[in-house]
Amino acid sequence: MPSAETNGTNGDSAYQFYNVIDGKPRISKDHHQVIDPRTEEPLWDAPIATSKDLDDAVEAANRAFKTWKKSTTAERQKAVHDVANIILQNVEVLAEVQRRETGKSRAMSRFDVERAAWHFEYYRTVSLEDELQYEDDTVRIIATHTPIGVLGAISPWNFPMILSTVKVVSALATGNCVIIKPSPFTPYSLLKFCELAQSVLPPGVFQALNGGADLGEKMTLHPGIHHISFTGTIAVGQRILRNCAGTLKKVILELAGNNACIICDDVDLDKVVPQVTTGALFHAGQVCVASKRIYVHESLYDKFLDRLIEESKKFAIDDEDSISFGPLSNKPNYERAVGFIEDCKKNGYKIVAGGDVKPREKGFWIPPTIVAKPPENSLLVQEEQFAPIVPVMSWTDEDDVITRANLDNAGLGASVYTPDADRAQRIARQLESGTVWINQFERPHHAGFFGGWKLSGFGGEMGKQGLLHYCHTQSLQIAKT
Ligand code: NAD
Repeated sequence: MPSAETNGTNGDSAYQFYNVIDGKPRISKDHHQVIDPRTEEPLWDAPIATSKDLDDAVEAANRAFKTWKKSTTAERQKAVHDVANIILQNVEVLAEVQRRETGKSRAMSRFDVERAAWHFEYYRTVSLEDELQYEDDTVRIIATHTPIGVLGAISPWNFPMILSTVKVVSALATGNCVIIKPSPFTPYSLLKFCELAQSVLPPGVFQALNGGADLGEKMTLHPGIHHISFTGTIAVGQRILRNCAGTLKKVILELAGNNACIICDDVDLDKVVPQVTTGALFHAGQVCVASKRIYVHESLYDKFLDRLIEESKKFAIDDEDSISFGPLSNKPNYERAVGFIEDCKKNGYKIVAGGDVKPREKGFWIPPTIVAKPPENSLLVQEEQFAPIVPVMSWTDEDDVITRANLDNAGLGASVYTPDADRAQRIARQLESGTVWINQFERPHHAGFFGGWKLSGFGGEMGKQGLLHYCHTQSLQIAKT
């Protein structure tokens, strides 16, 4: 058991956590504790949901759906606005909980929680309307968008609030009910958020259950859950898709991306290097759309690399208050990152910054690490590292760099830097990924549809289009008599 002294919260009820079922917090017989990635000490008790908890939540959600699906757009927009306010009224506690479970700085964690509120606020005014598809003297055809039912939302640990709340708000805004399962590495902020949101939502509309792969697996197989929105690794996404086939659930898969960042020969390094460094190192590279492979035009490669090494030093300091860098969020991801560095060392690749795998006595730290021109077929280039280990390659031919960028596992995001607007769009439109950022580092925007291609998944969320993936489209074909 973690002591109040160890986790620094002295038994405060804000730091007690429950599964949330049918509008009420529910205690659990079994618990686990997340390891604080900075101190390696256990945090608070996190309840583990049972199969009975899942069945009860599914029953409550189906009961609530009967009424919630009939609510008007205006009623749901009021509800999402009320939830946004709940988040904003509780920023301090949600940000502190998330900071401790993820290892983020105070500034990063607070920003994430505030952004979660923006997602809700965005859908206060954005909704799907009926669309006239066709009309003649005999028939009028309307496309209307109806909720699917009970959503099972399964989320990862890197942005526990933002990545989960986008699923919750998309479901609520379209008239679905949602049961969310946070990652067992970061259960606290989501459980607390769900508990707080009960004060403004009908029971059963939004519920949260904590558990690991086994609970996620039961959700994907449960006949009372009608659709799944999953964010995580490619391998788990593939398994989820297979599991959902049995009940033919509709599935959204937001999976990993081995994103390329292309730097053209006409860029201003003063402007571009800070952007690219942030794109690669923000949250220690644990961002699905982070720049995971940097391709720099050969004519400015050496200058770029020197500047990148200098800029990366700003991320190497530990400032728990402000910096957008921190330790890796959990031991498995730290060990995976060490594996990438060891592979680079074993193969004699040129590590030009960082590379120390145990820079401090406590915490899952990996310093910003830059690897110059590893071969294209190296592990670091071919696989997503999800850590601050950045391979920097060079290019001379535009078609060639586009081909190298378009790996099968690179379907989520990409970035292009050039002041030439035509060139930027020409390259961007040939990149096979769901989002391309031009002259800015990669950050999803709540108003822009976000989804992966190829091995990075399908379906999507955010923006008005994202709501379509949380609905059935029904065709009303009305005869004119
Ligand atoms: P993960 O796939 O290991 O786990 C994600 C979630 O799935 C967790 O809640 C986990 O408990 C659950 N899960 C595990 N096995 C399951 C199973 N068999 N059935 C159902 N659920 C199961 O991923 P992670 O390590 O938590 O997250 C990191 C990965 O997520 C990275 O690859 C990253 O690129 C990706 N990611 C993608 C996006 C995106 O929007 N596309 C965003 C963030 C992270």
